[in-house]
Amino acid sequence: MTTEFDPLRLDVQAFALANATLSATDSLSKYERLTHEGLAPEADSTTDSLVTWSAHCEWREKHGEASQAWLHITAEACVPLTCQRCLTRMDADLYADRWFRFVADEATAEAQDDDAEEDLLVTSHTFDVQALVEDELLMSLPMVPVHDVCPVKVKLQVADEGFEEANAAKENPFAALAGLKKPGK
Ligand SMILES: [Zn+2]
Repeated sequence: MTTEFDPLRLDVQAFALANATLSATDSLSKYERLTHEGLAPEADSTTDSLVTWSAHCEWREKHGEASQAWLHITAEACVPLTCQRCLTRMDADLYADRWFRFVADEATAEAQDDDAEEDLLVTSHTFDVQALVEDELLMSLPMVPVHDVCPVKVKLQVADEGFEEANAAKENPFAALAGLKKPGK
């Protein structure tokens, strides 16, 4: 195959018919939403972070129905985030791996969405694969990024202490008082 496919304007039908695969390694800075979402404050150079992805499309026959284009996306990236425990930089490895099925239009997608186990996309001659890769990576971001083991010693934050005291008081207010009164503590 010598046909060039453009990941920003992909002709889904042609790509599926060619049973083709596109893959690339991009600078993270090309992914504005991901960069904006993730960045640790001191990590102003994202040029060393990479997004590696691959997209494969194939045509599948289904009994009694028109054949359909399926798209497999895999992606990985290392994104600098801010650890929510120690507030220093934390590099998070993101992975995505998902199959999609293309349908003819938005109405079909809506009609089939509840029953379909797979994710549906509306077919296009100018499909933006890179945006889909970015969507998938955004979804794989940790809700609350924290190091497995923080590289710096973490001071308990005031808000956390207050929360724990409130909880202890709720459980047994007298036990907490008794603990304070014990000599030698
Ligand atoms: Zn940390």
